[in-house]
Amino acid sequence: MKIGRWLIAGAVVAVVIWKADDIIGTDKQQSAAPPAVTETASAIASPSGSSGDTGTSEATPSAEPSDTATPSTDSPSPSEDADPDGSSTATPESSDKPSDASDEPEGSAGSDSLDALLQLNAPDKTIEVGKNGVATVTNPESMLVLVNKKRELSSTYAPDDLVKPDVEFSFSGDSPKQKMRKTAARALEKLFAGAEKDGITLKAVSGYRSYATQKSIFSRNADLKGEEVANRTSARPGQSEHQTGLAMDVSSASANFELEPKFGDTKEGKWLAAHCAEYGFIIRFLEGEEDVTGYSYEPWHVRYVGKDAAKQIMKQGVTLEAYLEAAANGATKA
Ligand SMILES: [Zn+2]
Repeated sequence: MKIGRWLIAGAVVAVVIWKADDIIGTDKQQSAAPPAVTETASAIASPSGSSGDTGTSEATPSAEPSDTATPSTDSPSPSEDADPDGSSTATPESSDKPSDASDEPEGSAGSDSLDALLQLNAPDKTIEVGKNGVATVTNPESMLVLVNKKRELSSTYAPDDLVKPDVEFSFSGDSPKQKMRKTAARALEKLFAGAEKDGITLKAVSGYRSYATQKSIFSRNADLKGEEVANRTSARPGQSEHQTGLAMDVSSASANFELEPKFGDTKEGKWLAAHCAEYGFIIRFLEGEEDVTGYSYEPWHVRYVGKDAAKQIMKQGVTLEAYLEAAANGATKA
């Protein structure tokens, strides 16, 4: 039968091509499937056993601890430093190894470069599990870094470009928690100015927090309420997005500058959700996504990711976890 002959002929040709692979490179590439990268797919399983699934607001708001030397009018907040929970297993993509996170260009970089960036920052490729079983992110400086209860920042990581954004704060005096990374700080200034134009006054409450500060916050909460409750309502050191310098808690007079879900119902909270993406921010902990992020709804916590990603994320109404995962699997487009 003809097909049989073709098959045999094909096999012969294939062998010839294979033997002559220096000469005929292209044909060979068609049949050679790129090996799947499966490096750390399994590594993402929760190292600490602390599940973000319990992030429900079972009352007990924890007073948001103030940083050193801050005349603080901080109000009680349920889960100040939330962090999400990378529910990630997903199939790894084939492609280059992630290089260490460098800064990404701000704002609109075009969809091609966003796609490249998303590949570089795919959750599976940006994690390293130590001997102690702790999974540490390898791209702490990326605007697309994913930090949560399963993906920690190193205790030694601190951004080197922290600045104080020129915005109104809910308290007076100077504090490290006023700072953000430069790109995020500039974007926050534009966000607040844009709000003001629309007759909306936002105030910044809490931004950067070092590993050491987060550690003392967590210990204090654990002493006061027990470790279990502390784990639900505040982040363990290394697991707070505030350590990236890309997050800011925002509130308004109408919410008494508190970090409470009710902020989401104020006109300021609604404006923030509707417009933050235009400036490169997302509402990081969405209502109803506790199972994914590990934390309950936090309409006050904005996270800088850059304009292109922010617009897609907010338009799709997804978590950063889900977005990065989908992007890694080639489903970026809205
Ligand atoms: Zn926060």
